[in-house]
Amino acid sequence: MPSPPTSPLPSATALASPFRGPSHSPSVHPQFRNKVVCILTCRHCQTAICHRGMKAILLGDTRVELYSTDTPPSQVQLVDKDYVTRNCRCKIRDVACLTCGNIVGYHVTQPCDTCLEACNNGHFWMFLSQEISCSERLGKNSQILLWGQLPPKEKDAAENHNDLYRWLVSRPAEPSR
Ligand SMILES: [Zn+2]
Ligand SMILES: [Zn+2]
Repeated sequence: MPSPPTSPLPSATALASPFRGPSHSPSVHPQFRNKVVCILTCRHCQTAICHRGMKAILLGDTRVELYSTDTPPSQVQLVDKDYVTRNCRCKIRDVACLTCGNIVGYHVTQPCDTCLEACNNGHFWMFLSQEISCSERLGKNSQILLWGQLPPKEKDAAENHNDLYRWLVSRPAEPSR
């Protein structure tokens, strides 16, 4: 087992930045503009659970790779109760895949002041890389979509589900495992 991270929130960058905590503005932090948008799929049952995924590392432990998103994913459910992380005061709750019930990540229900002050990416839904497969999301012109080109989440949720599933259906079958 890796040692518990000091913070459950993803880091925006390893470098110092003026960005402080999540912003209510829909504009994307400059650090993320060139990040690829990922479609995240449950490894256990292959359900697509998020179409706005970002590859991230943890603030508290940059060896831990995970995926994060800015929108509550519709294909997962919060389970059990909030718990406090070992090294800070963030409250988190596990997130399970709605289709198969496996725990695939966690939601930071209440970030602590320390983590909000730190340079996080403003995402509060995290997925563990060992539970999730990731594929690049394609834009309208079939090119890989970057966060800088991603529509705001309200608009994206409304218009994107069809695109997502069409793309998933049409992609070449992956060899199992
Ligand atoms: Zn914290
Ligand atoms: Zn699943």
